[in-house]
Parts: sequence; C-alpha cells; structure tokens
Amino acid sequence: MPCAHKHARGILVDIIIAEHELRMHSQWQERIKRKLESSCTTTGNLKSPNEKLVKEFHSELYKLLPEASELSRKLYEAESMLPANPLKRNYEDNRKDPKWYMRKELVADCAGRNGCCSRGCGCCALRATESYERGVGHCTVECSCCVSFRGFEPSPMERQEIKFWYPE
Ligand SMILES: [Zn+2]
Ligand SMILES: [Zn+2]
Ligand SMILES: [Zn+2]
Repeated sequence: MPCAHKHARGILVDIIIAEHELRMHSQWQERIKRKLESSCTTTGNLKSPNEKLVKEFHSELYKLLPEASELSRKLYEAESMLPANPLKRNYEDNRKDPKWYMRKELVADCAGRNGCCSRGCGCCALRATESYERGVGHCTVECSCCVSFRGFEPSPMERQEIKFWYPE
C-alpha cells in the first residue's frame, strides 16, 4: 500500500520537525539563562548583576515562554497522529529510555553537524533528565556550548534549518 506508507512518512516528518523546534527552543531558553547567570560581574566575593543585561535577557526569556508550551502541544499532536501499531509502539518503546537519542546514528549525525558530539564536552548525554522529556536531545543551533565554541549567535536563517532539511 504505497499511500499508507507515504502517509506514515508524512506523520514522522511532522514529528521530526515538531521535536526539532521544541528542542531548539529549550536550548534557546537554556542559553539565555546562562547568559543571565554570566551577566553578573564578580568583584572579590561580591557578585553584582549588570542591570541592563539582566533586563534584556529577562524580556527575551518572557517572550519565549508562551512559544514553549505551543511547541510542546504541537509535538504532542503530531505524536498522536501515529497509527497504533507498530509505529506508535516502536516510538514509545524507544523513548522509555531518557537517553534514547544517544543511539550511534544520532550521535554521528550530531558530530557531523559540528555539535557537541564532535567535541569532548559531553553536553548531549548530560542533557538527559531522569525520565523521558520532550525536547531533550542533540545540539541545535541554539546550544549554548556550540554557540560559544563558534563564537557567534545563530542567525534567523539558521533557526529555520529544519525547514530546509524537510521541504514541504
Ligand atoms: Zn558541549
Ligand atoms: Zn552543542
Ligand atoms: Zn550531540
């Protein structure tokens, strides 16, 4: 049944895109939080926040929060489109392990994109929480470690990268 097959592929692509956008978004939030932490200047034992930067980062963060719940709802909806068996079962079995994404092929993919898996920092494995969480996985252009390694922030164009990998 070629039609059914194509349909399943479409659902998987929707999931991949939704997952990537949520992951990029959570790495974005993470990166702003780190910028917030490092915007304190330390003099001796005293840490004093740079008011202007703190304000700027807070407003960046507040703008992102409503989007986060929107993106996780989108992923949830895409997942709910999976046909019951065997795709859904495979998908759910896979994600019982919070480090499901540390599979060899996905690590190689991250390394190939010059993500943290191409260096010795181990950020990707460290991202895993105790139980499976949506949006946790390999580096996107928003990974704070990759951004400081590169030395510049991602452009709006780079944030759209997933749309170029899977054109409609
Ligand atoms: Zn790293
Ligand atoms: Zn990274
Ligand atoms: Zn990685």
